[in-house]
Amino acid sequence: MTHKDYYSVLGVSRNSSQDELKKAYRKLAIKYHPDKNQGDKSAEEKFKEINEAYDVLRDEQKRAAYDRYGTNPGPGGNSGSGFSENFDFAEGFSNFGEIFEEMFGGAFGRRDSGNNRAQPGSDIRYDLSISLEDAYRGRKTTLRFSTLVRCPSCGGNGSEGNNKPAPCPACGGRGSVRYNQSFITIEKTCQTCGGSGSILSDPCKKCSGSGRIKGDKNLEINIPPGIMSGGQIRITGEGEAGFKGAPAGNLYVFVTVNSHKVLVRRDHDLYCSVPISFTTAALGGEIRVPDLDGSDNVVKISAGTQTGAKFKIKGKGMPILNSSRRGDFFVEVVLETPVSLSKRQKEILEKFDGEKDEQTNHPKSSEFWKKLKDWIG
Ligand SMILES: [Zn+2]
Ligand SMILES: [Zn+2]
Repeated sequence: MTHKDYYSVLGVSRNSSQDELKKAYRKLAIKYHPDKNQGDKSAEEKFKEINEAYDVLRDEQKRAAYDRYGTNPGPGGNSGSGFSENFDFAEGFSNFGEIFEEMFGGAFGRRDSGNNRAQPGSDIRYDLSISLEDAYRGRKTTLRFSTLVRCPSCGGNGSEGNNKPAPCPACGGRGSVRYNQSFITIEKTCQTCGGSGSILSDPCKKCSGSGRIKGDKNLEINIPPGIMSGGQIRITGEGEAGFKGAPAGNLYVFVTVNSHKVLVRRDHDLYCSVPISFTTAALGGEIRVPDLDGSDNVVKISAGTQTGAKFKIKGKGMPILNSSRRGDFFVEVVLETPVSLSKRQKEILEKFDGEKDEQTNHPKSSEFWKKLKDWIG
């Protein structure tokens, strides 16, 4: 391997700063870029040399090693440097992409990742909270959000007036270019057209040729009856507009169903816990429980109902998504012990207590105490 003077390749002094290196590299890389010098072998060689030099010098560690040992491997160094050179070349190349964008940004450029211009717009997540009633009935709702929308001025193609985009001269419309480097071929996204294969002679003034601008969207969507909390609704093509007319991304609506004041949902069933008085439980009666349809359900409490008793109202639960079936509605009664008794109420209860027959009125209690006696002996 012959010794190359990387400093003279870039035309800088040995003690030049990183800033000076970058400037020198940028200038030369643009001058000798293969897109601009198609078929010119010497320019291609020069371009590789510039990249190789910059790749070493921009890395302080590599630069120090180079200053000490030159391009020959140092003591203990790996002499099989062919592969790493190729690798570095590719690295230097993507580096060039960044610089190219910095210089020609605007009409050509997004800064973020260089080679995705032909790609569709990003997906968008929208978080939506709805009530249990909404989840029960389903409803239409309007989502309002800001995103990138298709440029109304150019209709998304990025061109001013009626100028059609022309095939990119650098890649012949393929969107990518190939470089042969010793035994490997590197295929890179064309930096001139950014992979779209076409260039604009007169980019749209409103969107700078990107085909999309920031805008507000009002989008009416349908929430289907029976949607679960954590469910997603996908709305195809309502995400970010694509670059230069590429397809838009999708909109994903993430649904949260808020908890309800008195109803609890478990899968497709609804539960309602209803406190009843001990007199209703003892004497029997009726309670009325509304469901999500808004109709009253009469639940008959038979005399002697215990706390925790459940009553099932069939088919009055949540709708099941994409089906005509429904879950059930369960009413659970909970006995409420009366508090803050008046003097007279106390007297009545004491009277009742004096008159009760333990075995008849409280069979569970009598059975329990009987078992306890047997146990203790
Ligand atoms: Zn436009
Ligand atoms: Zn191209």
